[in-house]
Amino acid sequence: MDTLSYKYGNSLYLNITNRCMMSCPYCIKQKWAGKFRGNSLNLSKEPTAQEVIASIGDPKKYDEIIFCGYGDSLIRLNEVKTIAAWIKSKGAKVRINTAGLANKYHNRNILPELKGLVDIISVSLNGSNPQEHNKLNNPAFKEKSFDEVIDFIKQAKIYIPSVTVTAVELPGLDTEKIKKIADSLGVSFRSRPYLDEYEEN
Ligand code: SF4
Repeated sequence: MDTLSYKYGNSLYLNITNRCMMSCPYCIKQKWAGKFRGNSLNLSKEPTAQEVIASIGDPKKYDEIIFCGYGDSLIRLNEVKTIAAWIKSKGAKVRINTAGLANKYHNRNILPELKGLVDIISVSLNGSNPQEHNKLNNPAFKEKSFDEVIDFIKQAKIYIPSVTVTAVELPGLDTEKIKKIADSLGVSFRSRPYLDEYEEN
């Protein structure tokens, strides 16, 4: 049976797609063969919004409900909106972790559609310029992707109460430069450890 949601810490993570706008060589999807801390996140089929909602239980039990699987949830925008609206109707908090390429993917600014549905958005930015971002992440839109992510962050600030830029501490990546970009955009910054060795828990 597919894992549609899984607990980690005090949060619940939702795994709604394996599709992504990037193909990062460091992605643990490939390195850990779809497993993450004891759960297989490979989906045999993409779940419906109702199937995901049924897997959540009481959302108020968690600090946050986080869209973050082995893929970018914003590829499935309609399902994200349906699920997030249900979570918000129960009074719980919604976070989305994303690569920041959803506007380019959908060919429109999707952020106004998330207003009131999403409390926090974490945008990963691994690369401090178009060339480095393209080299490290293999994004679908190549070197145009970096500027797309920057624009996405600017738009996110208008519609989402809390915006954080995250960077993985990849070998050779100067996360200080990315922190400066986040500072200049007026959003928070958090670096995340590079997961190299498989972690069972
Ligand atoms: S953005 Fe995340 S899920 Fe997508 S390929 Fe990169 S690491 Fe994997």
